[in-house]
Amino acid sequence: MAEQLRAVKGMNDIFPPGVLQSVRAEKMPDSALWQWFESTVRSVLNRYGYQNLLTPIVEPTALFVRGLGEVTDIVEKEMYSFVDSMNGDRLTLRPEATAGIVRAMIEHNALYNGPLRLWTMGPMFRHERPQKGRYRQFHQLDVEALGFAGPDVDAEMILMGRTLWRELGLVEGRDVRLELNSLGQADERHAHRDALVSYFEQHAEALDADSKRRLHSNPLRILDTKNPAMQSLVEAAPKLMDFLGEASLAHFGAVRAALDAVGLAYRVNPRLVRGMDYYNLTVFEWVTDQLGSQGTVCGGGRYDGLIEQLGGKPAPAVGFGLGIERLLLLIDALGIPVPSAAPVVYAVVPSPGVVPQTLVTLEALRAAGVSVQMHAGGGNMKSQFKRADASGARYALIFGDVEVARGEVALKNLRDANAPQRSLPLAAAATWAAELLNA
Ligand code: ATP
Ligand code: MG
Repeated sequence: MAEQLRAVKGMNDIFPPGVLQSVRAEKMPDSALWQWFESTVRSVLNRYGYQNLLTPIVEPTALFVRGLGEVTDIVEKEMYSFVDSMNGDRLTLRPEATAGIVRAMIEHNALYNGPLRLWTMGPMFRHERPQKGRYRQFHQLDVEALGFAGPDVDAEMILMGRTLWRELGLVEGRDVRLELNSLGQADERHAHRDALVSYFEQHAEALDADSKRRLHSNPLRILDTKNPAMQSLVEAAPKLMDFLGEASLAHFGAVRAALDAVGLAYRVNPRLVRGMDYYNLTVFEWVTDQLGSQGTVCGGGRYDGLIEQLGGKPAPAVGFGLGIERLLLLIDALGIPVPSAAPVVYAVVPSPGVVPQTLVTLEALRAAGVSVQMHAGGGNMKSQFKRADASGARYALIFGDVEVARGEVALKNLRDANAPQRSLPLAAAATWAAELLNA
């Protein structure tokens, strides 16, 4: 027997609700939740004046190596890179969206006429150990404001997150919390790093083996230690905030003042960092306690140096990436009800002879905005009504031979067994369509 074909490990199939019988070990949110999320996102982004940009899923490997930096987790060990067997090009499935968007800006000189607010949504690829909330193909909403120096647009972007949570039924402060920090500028971070190294050198006897190793390669990582014996040492270490100059502090203060003015609570988290030197000033994350160690649903910040680093005319920028699977797992875990995507009408078609007239009528209903699922493939009345119930439709329209010959169709309310069945004129479908919609 041929070997059974399976999806690539860490890559998921997303089904409509109610299709899968077996309870799977790793439950993925269904596509109805996915659709609701996407339409809510589109509506919110539109209200904030963000426009959609689509870039390729495959890019030259060099883009990510230059864009993310060679010593990042992504570039070191997570990229799906391959050689195009047709021409030898080195390509990579995008692990994130920002680099591709910046490439597109530079290639098409797209910021020529001024700054842009953009978003894109789609699959990203990282070779990680699959677990709940962590996959090898996952999906992101990516939002970027290019050519804006902030802090106004930084605050706007964070606020847009709050609006999105609210419209998805999440309560900020309870279900998702905002963490905020400022990374200052590169020279400020370097001064802080030097101070950190000499502080830890002065306390070398208190460092564990891990920290000793990190002292000169990556002293900031010492701050992440989980070793309880080192907590007080780490607590008292020099803080980046104390090394920020006037301009950086003013930027951070303006973001905070804007959030305070709209009553958006946040925690300043000095541990919130980003790996690369082109990140600066504002960084933020939206986190939840509901998803274990995969608790960051959305992370973003300012990257004023990236466009220049990738060969463009220097321009400031800020953006965020939202992990769609994680957010949908959160919505699932909280039991937030998803608006129904069920059809309004299920059409019962007792015999093949009525199909042409049924199709004509259903087209009129659909043109009037009614969602209709037609029973296809025949079968007895009992099995058709079973399908009608399972579809979640409010009404069944029964295209019986006798009724259709009279120019009529029977309407049955599937949600109210006491409601009398009615006959409706086929020729006037457009007029009673409105009634079905408003019920
Ligand atoms: P983490 O620390 O969880 O690995 P990250 O810092 O690598 O996250 P970003 O590159 O900032 O993540 O991506 C933005 C968001 O995309 C994350 O906050 C998360 O919600 C989501 N995300 C990142 N990697 C994955 C993955 N492998 N599977 C599912 N979602 C992911
Ligand atoms: Mg990661």
